[in-house]
Amino acid sequence: MATRSPVSETEISQLLHTGREIAPPASLASKARMRDFAAEYRRSIEDGDGFWAAAAGELEWVRPWDKVFEWTYPTFRWFCGAQCNITHNCLDRNVRAGRKNKVAYIWAGEDGTERQITYGQLLDLVCRTANGLKSLGVKKGDRVILYVPLTIEGAAAMLACARIGAVHSVVYAGFSVQALRSRIEDARAEVIVTADAGFRRGKVVPLKAIVDGAIDGLEFVRNVVVLRRQQPQVQLTSAREIDFYELVNRQSAECAPEVMDSEDPLYILYTSGTTGKPKGVVHVHGGYMVGTYYHMTRFWDVRDDDVFFCTSDIGWVVGHSYIVYAPLLAGVTTLFREGAIDFPHPAIAWELVERYRASVMFTAPTAVRMFMRFGESLVTKYDLRSLRFFTCAGEPLNPEAYEWAHRVLCGEGKWGFAADNWWQTETGGPCLGTPPVLPARPAKVGKPLPGVIAEVVDRQGNPMPPNKGGLLVLRRPFPHLFRTVYGDPQRYAKDWGLVPNAYTTGDVAICDEDGYFTVVGRADDVLNVAGHRIGTADVESALVSHPAVAEAAVIGRPDPIKGENIKAFVILRVGHAASPQLDVTLKDHVRNTLGAIGVPAEIAIVERLPKTRSGKIMRRLLKAQELGQEVGDISTLEE
Ligand code: AMP
Repeated sequence: MATRSPVSETEISQLLHTGREIAPPASLASKARMRDFAAEYRRSIEDGDGFWAAAAGELEWVRPWDKVFEWTYPTFRWFCGAQCNITHNCLDRNVRAGRKNKVAYIWAGEDGTERQITYGQLLDLVCRTANGLKSLGVKKGDRVILYVPLTIEGAAAMLACARIGAVHSVVYAGFSVQALRSRIEDARAEVIVTADAGFRRGKVVPLKAIVDGAIDGLEFVRNVVVLRRQQPQVQLTSAREIDFYELVNRQSAECAPEVMDSEDPLYILYTSGTTGKPKGVVHVHGGYMVGTYYHMTRFWDVRDDDVFFCTSDIGWVVGHSYIVYAPLLAGVTTLFREGAIDFPHPAIAWELVERYRASVMFTAPTAVRMFMRFGESLVTKYDLRSLRFFTCAGEPLNPEAYEWAHRVLCGEGKWGFAADNWWQTETGGPCLGTPPVLPARPAKVGKPLPGVIAEVVDRQGNPMPPNKGGLLVLRRPFPHLFRTVYGDPQRYAKDWGLVPNAYTTGDVAICDEDGYFTVVGRADDVLNVAGHRIGTADVESALVSHPAVAEAAVIGRPDPIKGENIKAFVILRVGHAASPQLDVTLKDHVRNTLGAIGVPAEIAIVERLPKTRSGKIMRRLLKAQELGQEVGDISTLEE
């Protein structure tokens, strides 16, 4: 159980320890491809070139590389001189290998509609869409903005861009007019693919109307391709608008993949980054393909007969890597669903797991906390025994949420294993994690994954001793790390310049004596109470470990004596109500769990927390509201 630990005056203190280890079921570990994790990791560091060349060798290339890796700090290249096209490996390679009639995607809609598409059919759809884009004049290197809901056509449009060497930039369908416009302008996209509508929580999101507003006056936008999903169909009013299927159905289903240099850009994905100003993260064909494929087959360890269920959206990096590209590279069947994870009822995800016998799952901690809020009986009426590996990323996975997932979703390890993994838009795939061959330590993400040298350092770049917090940096580029910030190489260089000889992630972390990392939050959010620097995750996890609390967010407020004091915002679990007694109880609970230093000065009981659409709590917004400040570019985060 949680115990106190001494805190220091300067470093970020880790207050929460659970000391518990949960081993993966023997049935899982014994069959894992990455059986000897330590040996695999060692090989990836001692001979990085040989290691990644071997992974790349499992895929097909038009031309092999002359050199595996070249580093001219801060820029680098992987598979230099090689030529490939990621869609060839996603589609043609699988069709030729006998997967033509295998289901590539199972799509579910909020209204219960379900669709399936095979690898062969997906290849046809992608080729037709690619030819359609070509007919509109889209060429290699052109940027195409995709403002599309989570649909098979959305994934196909991404693949179609990649097929012809165009650079897609997906903007999460639901972002505001202004957020969309700024991305269209930044990418200078002449063609946009959208839909009339997306569906979320039973409501229609009028995407086309948002696009109309966003491109108003932007003369350089030549065409808008509209997937019309509603009846009666929306009218296409201007000459530059084209119906998606009218365009696609008249094309040939033959489209040879454009031959791409390994380092040619595949996509731009805008992330809010640390400052709030959107940052166009650029990933490339070759390295991204190899890295995401490696983790799909080693970390998630997917097999031919798996159904991989990813609850992210193609608007986020997790959706790019682990709905669209990597599962296809690995040749598995992927299940995804448009809409809210708790709509029309909070157990819909478990209904789908049971129906499709989903075996490997990728979701976010916010979803786990939502399920917990409704209690175990919500889940236990479904048969989840197919679920071999349950993974989360995106935010700290509180130990309480980990334990719940282990107990309720994984049957205490009887059939499944729950694991955390850490990454960012910039890293394209996971960097820290608990693969299904290592014991999980609740509150800790896991170890650096093969190819990744992660360290916790002070601002000068000096390594912190074990169990002392500091900045999380990555030392050596791996193939799926981003190459630049679109149109802003200086911003890219800054990420590699904040701490000498390292990529600074913007997160704060702690590494224990065995090399397990805990990510305690964004560096900008760190609390500073009476000289103690405390990560937000510790206090939030302590609150969530009380049976009355479903979710918590904490911020620091200026305090004349302590520097900062802590304010907590708490959502209660179903069946609990706010009261002065509960306030005292929660404060006592935090005191007993973390020590007096972590106790919030104030606890506000709220109905909801402001979150990004990808489920991350916006502490910056909470803090600005609390202090009556301007929030900045919040339109890029949530509305
Ligand atoms: P994004 O680039 O939008 O995917 O967000 C990446 C950020 O999410 C990271 O820098 C972390 O702050 C947070 N994050 C992602 N995964 C984890 C995790 N497993 N534990 C803690 N924080 C995480």
